Amino acid sequence: MTPGPRLSQRWIRPEIQALSAYHVADPGKLIKLDAMENPYRWPSELVEQWLERLRALELNRYPDPTARDLSEKLRQGMHVPEGMQVVLGNGSDELIQMLSLAVAAADRVILSPEPTFVMYRMIAEVTGLRYQAVPLGDDFSLDTDVMLSAIEQTQPAIVFLAYPNNPTGNLFDAATVEHVIQSSPGLVVLDEAYAPFTDASFMSRLGEFPNLLVMRTVSKMGLAGLRLGLLAGPAEWLSEIDKTRLPYNINVLTQASVLFALQHKGMLDAQAQQIRVDRAQLLQALRGLDGIRPYASEANFILFETQHGEADRVFAAVKEQGVLIKNLSSSGGRLRDCLRVTVGKKEENQAFLEALQNALNT
Ligand code: PMP
Repeated sequence: MTPGPRLSQRWIRPEIQALSAYHVADPGKLIKLDAMENPYRWPSELVEQWLERLRALELNRYPDPTARDLSEKLRQGMHVPEGMQVVLGNGSDELIQMLSLAVAAADRVILSPEPTFVMYRMIAEVTGLRYQAVPLGDDFSLDTDVMLSAIEQTQPAIVFLAYPNNPTGNLFDAATVEHVIQSSPGLVVLDEAYAPFTDASFMSRLGEFPNLLVMRTVSKMGLAGLRLGLLAGPAEWLSEIDKTRLPYNINVLTQASVLFALQHKGMLDAQAQQIRVDRAQLLQALRGLDGIRPYASEANFILFETQHGEADRVFAAVKEQGVLIKNLSSSGGRLRDCLRVTVGKKEENQAFLEALQNALNT
């Protein structure tokens, strides 16, 4: 019989064999500022109330397949316009996968400006689509001419725009985004994962363009562990995309827990507001350090560039002092000398700043 590895090489698609698995660092006891999580836990009375709610759940039963109550509360909380339909995913990652599966066919293209969220490329490749990256301008803005000509040439089935963008933190110019929507032959998905940290959104504009969808997640508002994303847009698209959803994709614990959390949305909103205030302070402090160039952000993280060839050393020295951030330098291109820090609690930001200052001074 043929040995295992050879057999897997024969049958696993070459595109999958060529991929590297999505890497998540083990934080151990480090201060965790690498994954754009909300740093705050709930007060203990609230945890007790939540556990009370979970006690009543029937884990022997399948969940509500369309999560009707939860969908309704999310529509209200996220201001989805009347007449638009929603589909929920196990994180917005699953929604990206559902979108890709719904359009996947030989030679179809998914297009996105880069640098951006890596899952657009990864999921396109896994689902058998071609991926077209379009370079962002020097200040990480969308270059209208370059975008429009790439769209014209490749006729993408889907354009993904992270708004604000990850890992750069900026918002694209709204008029340019509108131009992209109007010039695209297929769908344009505005990925608003970082909506809690900016005032800008295309949610209220759903319905104005026949090919616009808006995607949100509860991850960055403080519920990353529950895995829940929402896709909103015209029924014409969403009823088709919903057919790629696996039955019962939103489990019983997630449905009940997000419903509970939304009853305390004021607390989550206040946490996001605090993160916005702390982001401004962190940016100001980073601007005062020699040897790095931080970029302004509308999200809950800040990208900064080290001096040429220094990113790996600075990252390791910060980690050595107990703080885990994200090293993007191996992504290459514009990110070659870049690191990204998530805005944490005040004391965590302070610990990071001290560690960074020490790293830059050695
Ligand atoms: N979109 C963007 C732009 C992101 O940065 C991320 C996660 N970092 C996601 C989507 C995925 O979010 P979720 O936790 O909902 O899968």
